[in-house]
Amino acid sequence: MPKSKKIRIIFFIYWFLLVYIIAALVWWFIALSRQNEQMLLFKMQEIKKNEPNYLAKYARIESEKRRKTAQYIGEGSIFFLLIVAGALFVYKAVKREFKLSQQQQNFMMAITHELKTPIAIAKLNLETLQLRKLDESKKERLISNTLQETNRLNTLCNNILISSQIENGGYMAAHEEINISTLAEDCTNDFKNRFPNRNIQSHVDRELFVNGDLLLLQIALNNLIDNAIKYSPKEKTIIIHAFKNSPDVIIHIKDEGPGISDEEKKKIFQKFYRIGNEATKSAKGTGLGLSLTKKIILTHKGRISIKDNTPNGSIFILELKEA
Ligand code: ADP
Repeated sequence: MPKSKKIRIIFFIYWFLLVYIIAALVWWFIALSRQNEQMLLFKMQEIKKNEPNYLAKYARIESEKRRKTAQYIGEGSIFFLLIVAGALFVYKAVKREFKLSQQQQNFMMAITHELKTPIAIAKLNLETLQLRKLDESKKERLISNTLQETNRLNTLCNNILISSQIENGGYMAAHEEINISTLAEDCTNDFKNRFPNRNIQSHVDRELFVNGDLLLLQIALNNLIDNAIKYSPKEKTIIIHAFKNSPDVIIHIKDEGPGISDEEKKKIFQKFYRIGNEATKSAKGTGLGLSLTKKIILTHKGRISIKDNTPNGSIFILELKEA
């Protein structure tokens, strides 16, 4: 059965059961009220008008009826509220589950593509190098293109592995003193070598130290620089700016891309989330990078946020405790 049909059936059963339960509750209330009314009539008939304390007995029966009605209304309202709260909880949980499964499906599609493309390109380049006699400049281009693709593959594998290891508590993050100035410069230089045609600038103050895990922080920085390159036009500048703002070390990754709306700023750190639909996305990706980056920064008890760059673009801001 197609998934969308299955979802429709599940939601139909859910709404049917909810309406049925609420109707049963209303019916229960009406039946009890009627029974209460009949009991009152029966008791009224029992007492005789000429009895000396007729009025007192009448008042007692009336007040008992009022008490019972109040009791039914109270119990009914509590049941009703519990049913609505339970239904809301189930509805939200199921919706979240469906959304996650949809995102996972997108992720699987994206990852299959992301894994296959670099392998196919690297294979083709190597085969060309093996089969043909090429001049030095062509050889150089093929090798650097192959390196770029294997780097992409390496980043993706790191993201997947570390993400799942952090999630199930399998990654023991180190807590050593790290020269984040050197790390930021190294990451920037690496991207400058990989993308010689891009204008990547670093304004990194010297001797900035934080405590943490070198591999994790390197992954976080690489993901942010990679995104800045991926999501901004080729002719635009990317700036990596690191400075001290005691007791924190601040790192800015600025791009001059399309920017991110306030609505999307809240969502893009979710796992597998990507802006826009599959058809309109031009840059390839899996939606894993930022969720992992945020996890890494939180593991370091730091903060990550996004600001708008002027006149356009985004600034990703990392705040880490100075060592
Ligand atoms: P991926 O890049 O693999 O899609 P990420 O988790 O790194 O996954 O990013 C999630 C989404 O956030 C991206 O799909 C993109 O739409 C958006 N995004 C991330 N960085 C930027 C940026 N610098 N400028 C504009 N959009 C961005």
